[in-house]
Amino acid sequence: MKIIYWLRTDLRILDNKTLAECLRKNQETIFVFPQTKSLKLAGKIRKKFVEDSFNLFKTQLEENGFTVLKTELCFPDYISNLWQSHPFDSLYYTQEYAWDERIEENLVKKFCHEKNITVHHYDQGTLIALNDLPFTLNAMPFVFTDFRKKIELQLKIQPLISAPAPFTSFENQGTNRIKHYLWKTHAIQHYKETRNGMIRYDDSSKLSPWLNVGYLSARTIYYELKKYESEVCENESTYWLFFELLWRDYFKFFSLKFGQKIFLTSGLNPGVSPNHKLQETFLSWCEAKTPDTFINANMNELNRTGWMSNRGRQNVASYLIHDLGVDWTWGAAYFEEKLFDYDPDLNWGNWLYLSGRGSDPRARKFNTMKQAETYDPKGEYRQLWSSRKE
Ligand SMILES: Cc1cc2nc3c(=O)[nH]c(=O)nc-3n(C[C@H](O)[C@H](O)[C@H](O)COP(=O)(O)OP(=O)(O)OC[C@H]3O[C@@H](n4cnc5c(N)ncnc54)[C@H](O)[C@@H]3O)c2cc1C
Repeated sequence: MKIIYWLRTDLRILDNKTLAECLRKNQETIFVFPQTKSLKLAGKIRKKFVEDSFNLFKTQLEENGFTVLKTELCFPDYISNLWQSHPFDSLYYTQEYAWDERIEENLVKKFCHEKNITVHHYDQGTLIALNDLPFTLNAMPFVFTDFRKKIELQLKIQPLISAPAPFTSFENQGTNRIKHYLWKTHAIQHYKETRNGMIRYDDSSKLSPWLNVGYLSARTIYYELKKYESEVCENESTYWLFFELLWRDYFKFFSLKFGQKIFLTSGLNPGVSPNHKLQETFLSWCEAKTPDTFINANMNELNRTGWMSNRGRQNVASYLIHDLGVDWTWGAAYFEEKLFDYDPDLNWGNWLYLSGRGSDPRARKFNTMKQAETYDPKGEYRQLWSSRKE
């Protein structure tokens, strides 16, 4: 009998527990890359990025003799056909954190239970594994600083899992990006000072696209950072990249804990109802036609490239929520369509946080004029993205 590997956001050879465990069985394995509910909502740029990333990984698998299938159906809708065309007795997948993804897992588990298929799933999407947290999910500190401090006091990070046989190489654009940012340019040494920059490629690590398709695990970044710190330099900047990876974990566990609530207008505060009267205002934001040139520049960059810096994301989100008074979930959904580094837990978690309906009840309102003066003092960024032209 065969094994099915359900590919999700774990398109990598190195540090992939699901892959290592699955190949240890030495049975015929078929890899399946299905559609997801979120990818159906993706715009052209995000779709292309995910497809290109999948195609490269597919080549890597095929070169090593594996069969890879792709389907336009979501996995729960496809599994029954798959079982008929390629009967299998075990299924492997990597667990996700967000609501829709977990609903898919439950549907798939139900099908497998009915057909007597053994399911093996692994938790490897975060830096700290769920079971290694120094608290239960229920007792997870509400505020990031408390979460981080507790974790740092009892830091436990699983070792890296090496590339399984038959793979002889595991490199991809994600591992190349680490090499570039750490070992080649040493840009990491100035990360804390440059991370708010909006123009230069090396202002921040740009690791998010690779983390989010699964080309890289957070642990791979962590162990490279440790190596860099012991061999080259350890400073506040090297620490800060680790600090940001803890923010990532925080939003993933937050999403796991609060489930559907992080996708609702009311967030964690029941009773807040959406305001549906602002479609035109919302459109002006999407189309970069607001009275604020700093906001428009960021939206132009997003619309044309699928990218926006963290500083930009914070400002345009705050502007939509607190200056224009539009429902924050509309903005989050727009980002879901456009961002090619889209991640459900990080996107919706950050938007919810800025709306003041998440873990921190204080509304995060940015003074966008002041922000523009601080982060774009000469107006270079606004000049670069002043036009809406495709
Ligand atoms: C409104 C809003 C929406 C966002 N949507 C997404 C999204 O869909 N996908 C996504 O990956 N990030 C999202 N972020 C977080 C952050 O903006 C990006 O991770 C970051 O800009 C990616 O660039 P980088 O890899 O160069 O970041 P770096 O500054 O180099 O950080 C390194 C890594 O740390 C993590 N990280 C950094 N900032 C945050 C943060 N605020 N929250 C959680 N983790 C963080 C990311 O994994 C990032 O790749 C969002 C932030 C905001 C304010």
